[in-house]
Amino acid sequence: MEKAAVQGISLARRLYTSRTLGLLLGLLCVGAAMYPLDPPPWAWGVMLVNALLWPHLAYQWARRARAPYHAEHRNLLIDAFMGGFWIAAMQFNPLPSATTISMMAMNNVAIGGLRFLLAGTAAQVLGIGVGLQIFAPAFIPATSPLQLYACLPLLCFYPLLLGWICFRQAHTLGRQKRELLALSRTDSLTGLLNHGAWKDQLEIEFQRCKRQHKGGAIALIDIDHFKAINDTYGHVAGDIVLRQLGKMLRQNLRAADVGGRYGGDEFCVILPDLPLDRAAAVMDALRNRFATLGYEQDPALKVSLSIGLAAFDPQHSDATLWLNDADHALYEAKTTGRNRVICCGDGKSEPELLDLL
Ligand code: GH3
Ligand code: MG
Repeated sequence: MEKAAVQGISLARRLYTSRTLGLLLGLLCVGAAMYPLDPPPWAWGVMLVNALLWPHLAYQWARRARAPYHAEHRNLLIDAFMGGFWIAAMQFNPLPSATTISMMAMNNVAIGGLRFLLAGTAAQVLGIGVGLQIFAPAFIPATSPLQLYACLPLLCFYPLLLGWICFRQAHTLGRQKRELLALSRTDSLTGLLNHGAWKDQLEIEFQRCKRQHKGGAIALIDIDHFKAINDTYGHVAGDIVLRQLGKMLRQNLRAADVGGRYGGDEFCVILPDLPLDRAAAVMDALRNRFATLGYEQDPALKVSLSIGLAAFDPQHSDATLWLNDADHALYEAKTTGRNRVICCGDGKSEPELLDLL
């Protein structure tokens, strides 16, 4: 089903509840105002149909329409028209008329904003005009106590219901917004942060290190000869390798570390408060573990990683320079034979580095 149709049916469903209750309580209010005027039997008939049958008809009409959203807008205009009609029929009895006008205005503005409020008002004025043609134009200046009590249920319960419906909708929208935001920040293949979201985190970490005079490291991880893996084992196998690396990063990093997929076969990690030597040891352990990993569907497949590391440098003016350092280290790891960890600035691979510690 089309998205617009689904939205229209969802609107019709929401309005079905509010219309059923609103018109039932409205029957009390209008009926009490009409009773002393001794209207003809057909007027009672129309009133009953409008209050008891119309909500169900309107719902079915909108549900079966080709464009349920537009059908529901038309139904709302009919509601407004009928409201105007009953205002004229009640001879403008102040409280029932004001109650009808305000409840409908609240309804229309909640559903379609100012534009729909104006359209609803126009339909209501038209309804008043038709009502004045049918019933003798007259004005009742006072509402009796009985009529006042008959309006109270509508005045108390209808705003409560409409408020509840609006709250639930706002709640659902808020949840959907959070879900969409999370989705827009996540790499769909690996479940890690995507490029943009990770770079936002890098900027935050860079500013934190500057402010708090703390250290930290970042790592750029690239799969060696990944194109050849795709070519030899197929892209599905390539995807499995990427997913596997994502999983390994999620499982082996600390809670404070931030892993992401930089793009293609390149991954990135922020390791806050970790000295470069410790970061190098962590990354080398990861490289080792990944190299020994077996793949069920392709037992011959072995994958190695090249990793470039860079420590936070307080001399840097912005986070991209930090990233550049890691990129240079990664380049060096690639050009000096791959399957290794290189730290920016020393040009030594991890085994050499560990020897020096
Ligand atoms: P190097 O050792 O120098 O890193 O070489 P490489 O082959 O790993 O690097 P290259 O940049 O030449 O190739 C990366 C490949 O990754 C090319 C691209 O088709 C592939 N790739 C990018 N994104 C995806 C993906 O989502 N799934 C799969 N299966 N492959 C991808
Ligand atoms: Mg690669």
